[in-house]
Amino acid sequence: MIRTKKQGLLIVLSGPSGSGKNTVCDEVKRNNSNIWESISMTSRKPRKGEENGKAYYFVNDDEFEENIKNDKMLEWARFAGNYYGTPKDSVQKHLDNGEDVILVIEIQGALQIKKKIPQALFIFLLPPSMSELKRRLTARHTESEEKIMERFETAYKEINELSKYNYVIVNDEVSKAASKLEAIIKAEKCRVDRIEEVFLDSSEEKIHEILVDKNLENKFVDVNKL
Ligand code: 5GP
Repeated sequence: MIRTKKQGLLIVLSGPSGSGKNTVCDEVKRNNSNIWESISMTSRKPRKGEENGKAYYFVNDDEFEENIKNDKMLEWARFAGNYYGTPKDSVQKHLDNGEDVILVIEIQGALQIKKKIPQALFIFLLPPSMSELKRRLTARHTESEEKIMERFETAYKEINELSKYNYVIVNDEVSKAASKLEAIIKAEKCRVDRIEEVFLDSSEEKIHEILVDKNLENKFVDVNKL
C-alpha cells in the first residue's frame, strides 16, 4: 500500500489573457471535486455579472496595497493597469485540508510562486494562434479597443516565459485542453516524491529504508514561512 502526502497539490495555471484559462479550469473542476480554485483579489472594477467574493475580491488600490504591506499576498502583479493577487491564508488552509489548489493567474505572479514554491506544478496555456487570441479578446466585449491591444501586446512578452513552466497545453478545444490538464494533474500526483510511505506486507521496513536512502524528504508547502 502506498500512502501519499496528506497535503494537496499546488497547481499554477497561467497563460495570456484570452487563452481560455478560466474556461479550461471550470471544466476540470466540474470533473474533479477535490480541486479548489483560489479567489484572487483585484483592484479592477467588476464586469457585468461578476460578484464580489466569487469572481474576485474587489478592492481599491489602497486596500490592495495594505494587503501587500501586511504580507497577506502569496503573489501579486500589476496587469493592464490594475492590481491582481492571491491571498495567502485561504490557499494554505485548503492545501492543508488535502485539497488540490489551482491558481489561475498571469505570468509575473506565476514566476513569483516558482521562486518561492518550486515544487508546485506550473502549466502554461497557449492559444492556437495569435490571431485567434485577438479574436477571443475582442469577442468577450469586456474591454475597450485600447485595453484589448494592451493585453494582446502583453501576450507576446508573456509567451517568452514559456520555458519556465513544467507543461504547455494548446487550447484549441476546451474539452481536449481540460482532459490534458487533468492527465497532467493525475500524473503529478503519482510522483515518487509525493509518497510518504510504502507498506508491502512482509518487507515494510525495507521499503521505508529505500525511501529514506533516496532522500525523499517531505516537501510540504508552507506559505507562511516564505
Ligand atoms: P481579468 O481582468 O481578465 O479578470 O484578468 C487579467 C489577468 O490577471 C488574467 O490573465 C488573469 O488570469 C490574471 N489574474 C487573475 N487573478 C490573478 C492573481 O491573483 N494574480 C495574478 N498574478 N494574476 C491574476
